[in-house]
Amino acid sequence: MSLFAYQFTQDLVDWYESEQRDLPWRRSRDPYRIWISEVMLQQTRVDTVIPYYENFLKKFPTLPALANAHEDEVLKAWEGLGYYSRARNLHGAVKEIAASYDGVVPNDPDKFRELKGVGPYTGGAVMSIAYDFKEPAVDGNVMRVLSRVLYITEDISKQKTRKQFEEHVREYLEMTEPSKFNQALMELGALICKPKKPDCEQCPVSKLCVAREKGVVEQLPIKAKKAKPKDQQVSCAVIVDENERVLIEQRPKEGLLAGLWQFPAVLGHEDDLSSVLHDQYKLDISLQKESDVFKHVFSHLKWEVSIYTGTIATEEDHQGVWVNKQEFQTYSFPVVYQKIAKHYLGW
Ligand code: SF4
Repeated sequence: MSLFAYQFTQDLVDWYESEQRDLPWRRSRDPYRIWISEVMLQQTRVDTVIPYYENFLKKFPTLPALANAHEDEVLKAWEGLGYYSRARNLHGAVKEIAASYDGVVPNDPDKFRELKGVGPYTGGAVMSIAYDFKEPAVDGNVMRVLSRVLYITEDISKQKTRKQFEEHVREYLEMTEPSKFNQALMELGALICKPKKPDCEQCPVSKLCVAREKGVVEQLPIKAKKAKPKDQQVSCAVIVDENERVLIEQRPKEGLLAGLWQFPAVLGHEDDLSSVLHDQYKLDISLQKESDVFKHVFSHLKWEVSIYTGTIATEEDHQGVWVNKQEFQTYSFPVVYQKIAKHYLGW
């Protein structure tokens, strides 16, 4: 046991015990609740997650309740959080637990990691926080803190570097309570050792931090630059009929924003949109191009959505799904389409 490791784990856990934030998922050791929070917190800020977490647990208070829900209900509760494959994978994994483990989250890190969408981070976080397994939970926050404390200068986007961090954490977990230690590392990254301007004066492990001693805190972690998101032109049609119903369609079951709903849209320009409206919905309608362009950035793509509007007589034989305001609220839409609905329909 190294003296450094002993001091580091002690100081960090002591600090965590007195300074930790009172977050809703910390009020329970229920693995289901912790799991939901960890999935929601991926790529998403704590303040954004809290209302979603509370609402989600009101709707699906237990694992069987979520397992029995229809996927549309789950996506509706996730609407606006983004990265919807997280919700679909979570739902798939929960169903698997209901079918194979009597509805109880397996008390076994290997079995838990075999479930759909459970990667090394989520596996480690849930197993350590709920059951105190000595499992590392290494995400970007944790790598930032440790690369500074230990002065690790390898590229953190490489799998090999992540493994290196996991090995360090495994060593520390031998001498502390895994649940508290893993959360303490995350908390330090969130509150003190932030990406920019870390508050080293308030840091409980500043005496042990090599990057601080060397004066290179803000140069770490080292991370290879990601490719710039690719631009995509999207054209979308907001078409209402005389009964104030609007035409919507479901996105394909696979791929980006799979299974969510939108106004009829194409990758391309007005002509492409008109062809789809004609071929798919038998609509020949004169569209008006609006001046606003809605932008949405995904991790690898940047959408520029141009809007076309039109009104059509109400006829019996309209194809597609036409919904009024009330019905509209029951479908799940990506954020960019929610904004468009608000702007053009006031819904
Ligand atoms: S001393 Fe500064 S850089 Fe080092 S761990 Fe603490 S906050 Fe981060």
